[in-house]
Amino acid sequence: MADYLIRVLPKNFNFRAFGVYLPQCVEEARRRQGLSPVATAALGRALAGVALLSADLKFGKILIQINGGGPLGEILAEADYQGNLRGLVKNPQVHLPPENKKLPVGKAVGKDGFINIVRDYGLKEIYQSSSALLSGEIAEDLAYYLTTSEQIPSACALGVLVNTDGSVITAGGFLIQKLPEANEAEIFYLEKRLSEIKPVTEYLSQGLKIEEILQEIFGEIEILEKREIRYKCTCSLERVEEALIALGKGELVEMIKEGEPIEVTCEFCKERYKISLERLKELLEEIERRKACLD
Ligand SMILES: [Zn+2]
Repeated sequence: MADYLIRVLPKNFNFRAFGVYLPQCVEEARRRQGLSPVATAALGRALAGVALLSADLKFGKILIQINGGGPLGEILAEADYQGNLRGLVKNPQVHLPPENKKLPVGKAVGKDGFINIVRDYGLKEIYQSSSALLSGEIAEDLAYYLTTSEQIPSACALGVLVNTDGSVITAGGFLIQKLPEANEAEIFYLEKRLSEIKPVTEYLSQGLKIEEILQEIFGEIEILEKREIRYKCTCSLERVEEALIALGKGELVEMIKEGEPIEVTCEFCKERYKISLERLKELLEEIERRKACLD
């Protein structure tokens, strides 16, 4: 079964909910970037979180940036409106042993820092906001961000289960948001229900689907939309060349002086792009041409 994202409306509650199932995305991220188990769990949770936020995107993309001062360093996770996810961890090979059979994600991420969310709808402006980290466990931090920074009371659960060989067994999560009409009794019921349910990965590894977990919480639900998602980078040779052009004339002249072709590796997917000396010279000409247009 391919990875997917759902938008859900509970029948008897004034809440909206989103669910994500993404073991293949997380496994692909792990394989491409050589992530340690704890890095896999941390980036997997961040990818699940950003996928949930992207569920009602019509254009553009969303980026989650987490910087908690822990050994993993900065974590980036991005999702676009077409269901393409990508992400990276600054120090992918940090190993921390499990504590009580759980990977210590909070310890690896750290909680001395912030979560920052950038919404880029492909318009002129980008929207950016951040909040302090509570635990570095990511789900809790994301819910706190949404509740305080975006003023939408939210609950979130994210989980990644990693095998002893490091590979991903399952991964997924959900996000629940209060609608303005929700009353005290509904909120009370939901808080109680969320405190009773088991971790997401426990349900998923028993073969339950993410929509069935949401049914466990709310009873009857309506699935408004289901989208396929995948780990896919948006890099291309064209974009790499644009980035080289953006470096400017001085830098390019230096590279050409070296007399060697250059290789650029995409941080997100580890794809390598070779740029020949010939091509570098053409890019330099392109800079001149664009400058001439401006003059
Ligand atoms: Zn890439």
